[in-house]
Amino acid sequence: MPVAHRNAHAIREAITRLNDPRLARWAAQIRHTGGCRQPIHLHGTVEHYDRATGRLLHRYSTNREPDGVLRVPCKTRRASRCPACAETYRADTYHLIRAGLTGGKGVPESVSTHPCLFVTLTAPSFGPVHTRREQGGRILPCHPRRDAAPCPHGRVISCTARHGVDDDCLGEPLCPGCYDYTGSVLFNAVAPVLWKRFADALRRHLATLAGLTLPRLREQLVVSFAKVAEFQWRGVVHVHAIIRLDGPDGPATAPPAWATCDVLTRAVEHAAQAVTVTIPPVAGEPARVLRWGTQVDARPITLTGELTDQAVAGYIAKYATKAAECAGTLDQRISPTQDLSCLPIRDHPRRLIAECLRLGACEELADLRLVQWAHMLGFRGHFSTRSRHYSTTLTQIRAERQHHARAEQITTGRLPLFDEDDVLVIARWEYAGRGLSLGDALVAALIGSPAAVLSLFGGEAG
Ligand SMILES: [Zn+2]
Ligand SMILES: [Zn+2]
Ligand SMILES: [Zn+2]
Repeated sequence: MPVAHRNAHAIREAITRLNDPRLARWAAQIRHTGGCRQPIHLHGTVEHYDRATGRLLHRYSTNREPDGVLRVPCKTRRASRCPACAETYRADTYHLIRAGLTGGKGVPESVSTHPCLFVTLTAPSFGPVHTRREQGGRILPCHPRRDAAPCPHGRVISCTARHGVDDDCLGEPLCPGCYDYTGSVLFNAVAPVLWKRFADALRRHLATLAGLTLPRLREQLVVSFAKVAEFQWRGVVHVHAIIRLDGPDGPATAPPAWATCDVLTRAVEHAAQAVTVTIPPVAGEPARVLRWGTQVDARPITLTGELTDQAVAGYIAKYATKAAECAGTLDQRISPTQDLSCLPIRDHPRRLIAECLRLGACEELADLRLVQWAHMLGFRGHFSTRSRHYSTTLTQIRAERQHHARAEQITTGRLPLFDEDDVLVIARWEYAGRGLSLGDALVAALIGSPAAVLSLFGGEAG
């Protein structure tokens, strides 16, 4: 639709909404979504029955709601899709990560005395890229090589620029012809397996250091972790993890005296270097062995000092709301027949996507599902995960919040006050769409939902 027609249509929609006798109810729904940019529309009923007599006590139906639907927040973790819901996710993640470091939310405070490291597992180099390096507050030249011989593509592999944070070239190879695109996407694809192998090797090495068998080790301690994947500008993932040693029953029990921060550091460094994933020879490529990069950073987390619990929780929570968008890729699946040259992205992510599609066509690599995850540059893992014993769960934190919201609904008369033990609740919900139309986004903005303004100008409405 041409812009002028689109605007006229949106204004007509907005006027209809403003004149709707149920505007107040609609506005309340929008306010309840907390500024969600793409609320989910639900159609359905909730019935309350008396358990003893089977009598229907109360029936709620969306048929009486504006447009016959209830709008609820999308609850995405991804800031690129909905800033308001991602902010809720970030705050929840922050609290649960911090609880695992200092206690709270059902985790005893004694957890802060357990050996605990903040570990960064990097990706290896796949060729020099433009980077911004800082040392003592000074920006260093990117990749200076005085006598660099030209590469086979005739480029001199040297860059003396001191790049700004917003420089477009950051993360781009000095020579795309020399860059190992195959290695880069295969590394992303096996990163979840590498992590799994790392965690297994870590337990095995702890057992070796203590002179125990694995089952004996399990009787003395568990390794708890919370991890997050971060996309680098060059389009590969790094893993940041909190790794903590607990007694056999998790954070409430103390680990054995031999299990110190030092022992954990040695085990982490050993495991990070020891694990590999082998890719068979395919698509004209030789077999290759993938492993973590040589830079393994493992630092103790302390309550004061350089690396505090707040800093680490803030860091993990921030990355938990991001995906691969920092690497300049698209936030949607790509079809194998799509013309990549039309995608509104830079050449480097375009080449990474093309490599995913090329390798994804090989039978032998089918398990890596590179075509489905081409928009994630090959990575199909979870961005943010925790082991069972780490601390409380997001579900619990959300349940606490919902309980609070329910108490509010009861007091404002939206739900009847029944004793939950005597009442059977039957809810039937159906998905009925998502998002705000342009007209609705306009009215949402008028009633003071700032995220809705973003959706007006961000083009995500629909
Ligand atoms: Zn949302
Ligand atoms: Zn450079
Ligand atoms: Zn080259």
